[in-house]
Amino acid sequence: MKNKSEKYKDSYSEYRCVKCRDLKFIIEDNTAIPCECRALRECEDILKNSGISDEFRKKTFKNFNYAYDVQTIDAYYKALSYKKNFKNIEKTRQNSIIFMGQVGSGKTHLSLAISNDLMDSGVGVLYMPYRDVIISLKQNIMDEEYYRKAIGRYKRARVLLIDDLFKGGISKSDINIVFEIINFRYFNNLPMIVSTEKSFDELVEIDEATGSRIIEMSKDYLVSVKGKRLNYRIYG
Ligand SMILES: [Zn+2]
Repeated sequence: MKNKSEKYKDSYSEYRCVKCRDLKFIIEDNTAIPCECRALRECEDILKNSGISDEFRKKTFKNFNYAYDVQTIDAYYKALSYKKNFKNIEKTRQNSIIFMGQVGSGKTHLSLAISNDLMDSGVGVLYMPYRDVIISLKQNIMDEEYYRKAIGRYKRARVLLIDDLFKGGISKSDINIVFEIINFRYFNNLPMIVSTEKSFDELVEIDEATGSRIIEMSKDYLVSVKGKRLNYRIYG
């Protein structure tokens, strides 16, 4: 039985794909075969679920300005090489990349450039603005069911982009939440793209278990960016 709204939909133009009527498959000789719109819709879903804004979608390798110093150029090429290698290393322990450096060093731009590229090739990325997510998780920590579900998204996402890890004051419960996410991803070989203002040593100092796991996972792609860009702009 069709309800009213479904009847309404029967005019062809209401469907985004006329061929399959948005079912994403077509029945041929009693067999369901995937419709050609499927890949496109999956990419749209990936984008919708990523939490990446339109503004951040614009950050690409092409519009990254790396003409500042040697370190920035190096960071750019490491990011590019990570992206190119991603499918080969995805299921291994060393499958992550971390950008460490100050504000304005381009680390967020590069981590978004990788993410945007991965999403374009059908790999789901979940954006985790560290500070906001930690606050929201802590506010809901008493609601066990909600909390499990909310933190579960960050634990299980195919690729997790953590922006500004450990920004601001860090409490014991912040560390516990981060550890739960990172420990799960570590043992399940789930990749992360991390940007942080902390250095290698500071990460380990904040929490050894968390820091050492991030470093191990990003061993082949530890990127330091100094953020001298402002000076270069003045003198250049
Ligand atoms: Zn279709």
